[in-house]
Amino acid sequence: MIGRSVLGRDIVAYRLGTPGARPVLLVGVIHGNEAKGYEITKLIRTMPIPAGIDLWIIDSINPDGQAAGTRENANGVDLNRNVTYKWSYIPRSGPDSEYSGEAPGDQPETQALESFVGKIKPQITIFWHQDANRVSPGGARVEIPMKFASIVGLTTASTPCTAGCTGTATQYINHAIKGGTAFIVELPGDAAVTPAMVALHAQATLDVITL
Ligand SMILES: [Zn+2]
Repeated sequence: MIGRSVLGRDIVAYRLGTPGARPVLLVGVIHGNEAKGYEITKLIRTMPIPAGIDLWIIDSINPDGQAAGTRENANGVDLNRNVTYKWSYIPRSGPDSEYSGEAPGDQPETQALESFVGKIKPQITIFWHQDANRVSPGGARVEIPMKFASIVGLTTASTPCTAGCTGTATQYINHAIKGGTAFIVELPGDAAVTPAMVALHAQATLDVITL
């Protein structure tokens, strides 16, 4: 358990693979209404992990939003606009507001994520989102997201943010952990995410984390 949500739900990180080997972090859900990544991380937890990988899996860093089917956490904060790196204020304004919170890292879920990242120092981090159908590379080792994209058949492109891409988790991790990559995978909408696609993303993940 790496922390608790606003409503007191446990935030859990599962550890698989080889402790002390290359640290890798997978986050299935950060926007609660973009939850199909959860099926991918759950599946990976049942699969054999390649040698040389210390694999950490957080099915959901936003369990309250996932339970409620909202993008934001229970305080209405967009957790992917709330980290302490390159944060700027985005006001609350209607559904999917990208509200940044009142201060950098003022949400318990963000604090849990940042402190966990600082502890395990993941060389590769993947966050799943929906539904922009692309892989958005980041960090120093972009060949890893490029390879992931080619395996799953998605194009690579940055994902635009309505109110500006500030306070995002991937930018935070790419800044905090040098030399690796933290990237976003945007699945399609729920109806288009088939069991075969879930299996393909799970296998692609295990293929690229050893690169
Ligand atoms: Zn998202």
